[in-house]
Amino acid sequence: MRMTMSPQFVRPEIAAMDGYVPGEQPQAGKFIKLNTNENPYPPPPGIRGAIDEVLQRGLQKYPDPMANAFRMRAAQIHELPSKDWVLCGNGSDDILTICTRAFVGHGESLRLPYPSYILYRSLAQIQGARWEEVRFNADWSLPAAFGEPAESLKLAFLPNPNSPTGTMISREAILELADRLPCPLLVDEAYVDFADYSCIDLPKKNEKILVSRTLSKSYGLAGLRFGYLVAQPQVIEQLVKVKDSYNCDSLSIAAATAAIDDQVWLATNRDKIVATRKHLTEGLEKLGFQVIPSQANFVWCTHPEKPAKPLYEALKAEHVLVRYMNYPNWSDGLRISVGTDDQISACLSLLSNMV
Ligand SMILES: *Cc1c(COP(=O)(O)O)cnc(C)c1O
Repeated sequence: MRMTMSPQFVRPEIAAMDGYVPGEQPQAGKFIKLNTNENPYPPPPGIRGAIDEVLQRGLQKYPDPMANAFRMRAAQIHELPSKDWVLCGNGSDDILTICTRAFVGHGESLRLPYPSYILYRSLAQIQGARWEEVRFNADWSLPAAFGEPAESLKLAFLPNPNSPTGTMISREAILELADRLPCPLLVDEAYVDFADYSCIDLPKKNEKILVSRTLSKSYGLAGLRFGYLVAQPQVIEQLVKVKDSYNCDSLSIAAATAAIDDQVWLATNRDKIVATRKHLTEGLEKLGFQVIPSQANFVWCTHPEKPAKPLYEALKAEHVLVRYMNYPNWSDGLRISVGTDDQISACLSLLSNMV
């Protein structure tokens, strides 16, 4: 007999929500996978030795609860005064969860731009909080309403570059938003290594600015699960109380530390992705797609005549997986991750027979 838990035992907020649905992760079969913005290249080679070393020492002992080895290296790389400005997480989704739990109470609200990362909404739902979506302007800047104070507002999320558009808000605009907002502004820099500038230094200027990073995209380590936050030490100190004691494991701490140590690898990888992004963008435009200029490792595209969903399905039938997304009151479309040049050529060639 199958046991199911009656919704009556679950908090009403949880029973009422759909749950975040991540992009498809086929565990078998040969797909060209361009749907969840993974890096197509192998990660920095140094991670192998770092993982071996941990395995030789053994896994009997708990990891360093603060992942200090990583914090110290990250503080140097980002020119922060000390490791106390860094908080590590089990992927940056863990960081976003910790911040939501620490800042936003039941019935209070968080703010996010629209269209953007769907997970923020799920975090609010789990917390029993409300969320307020502020639409981007037509030029992908944010209206003044995004910085408007509101009584119950406790946290604002801003992915920069944004997903699914790949567009960016300027540093000046972010400083100004943080000044006006009555709450922390979490700048989610999951894709920033592919962009022209970052806000990693802005927490030094304003304690309300928090910047999150992940190793999932630019370091090719989505399978490892490691992310981090940069904020002023007194902010980090509060967030530490909310996290799981051992939210990062010994293997991931060692591998992540070795990965960020290799900034040369990062720069080379970034250049390859940025070059292929141009190839993808121009190829799509040649096929008549409208493409939003992207600062990330994916592009958002729509076709004036061809609906997006059948294109997604036809690509999938040919074992090319892209992300079909539908944002009510804005648009549906395809978000295509920047793979290798060969993968992108294959995708473009299939599309050329479909449009
Ligand atoms: C991928 C992504 C993340 C989280 O990545 P993790 O794998 O949990 O580190 C966070 N924010 C945005 C906008 C993303 O696209």
